[in-house]
Amino acid sequence: MSMRFDTMLFPGGLSKAFTLSYDDGVTQDKRLAELFRSHGLKCTFNLNAGLCGHKFSEGVIRMEEKDWDETYAGHELGGHAFYHSALDTMGNSRMVYEIIEDKRRLEKHAGEPMRMFAYPFGTFNDAVVEALRMAGYEGARTTVSTHSFTLPRDFLRWDPTCHHGDARLMELAGQFAEGFSMGPSLFYVWGHAYEFDGAKNWNVIEELCAYMDVHREKIWVCTNGDILKYVKAFRSLEYSADGTMIRNPSAMDVWFQPSMGKAERIPAGSIWTGEE
Ligand SMILES: [Zn+2]
Repeated sequence: MSMRFDTMLFPGGLSKAFTLSYDDGVTQDKRLAELFRSHGLKCTFNLNAGLCGHKFSEGVIRMEEKDWDETYAGHELGGHAFYHSALDTMGNSRMVYEIIEDKRRLEKHAGEPMRMFAYPFGTFNDAVVEALRMAGYEGARTTVSTHSFTLPRDFLRWDPTCHHGDARLMELAGQFAEGFSMGPSLFYVWGHAYEFDGAKNWNVIEELCAYMDVHREKIWVCTNGDILKYVKAFRSLEYSADGTMIRNPSAMDVWFQPSMGKAERIPAGSIWTGEE
């Protein structure tokens, strides 16, 4: 045996992943979701099931539930609290209701359990995080920019790389797509689609999408939930004491790189052997 350091890789043996997250389920999501689709990109759209059709202001109108399927085809739905309340400001019972009722309605619509949530106003405390965990959420996005490409230590406190309005957006995109990465790197951009109308800057997101599209053969484009599912599968690997056997008990293939070796795939349900 010798020194060993394994690195998680994303599906296909890729070391880079790109994901998007947009909130509030507003009418501008139609244009945005279509833009993402046209570039083969994936987004998690976080919705407030209790506010369908609600008009917040002239430019901020939430979509009706009947428009969700067509609008969000190919993307992922996530929770964002039933009435978009600031969850750390009210009693715990009301906070739990906002989380659970939103999740129940969204799941009924989507026909599958929700994995992702985004904190309304970006605010939360430990009780909110615990309520999300108990509700069955695995990830929750904050509004704090890391300006980095690291995976979160705690997915229920998932800080994105940056907002689309960040002055460093394209600089970060360049570092991510064209720079060298030692380990898995994730570029995570978030925002609200109505902001593009307000600031008249749809060109910002169009430019980002076109740029990522050019580099997409070396990038895993995925929803937030895809990342959660994959990292969970990777973390479930079972190692022998000497590291020469690794069992993948999950239902999906996982990739890793042992020391400086080449990318290795461990098919679902099988045992990898190697690296004496
Ligand atoms: Zn919101």
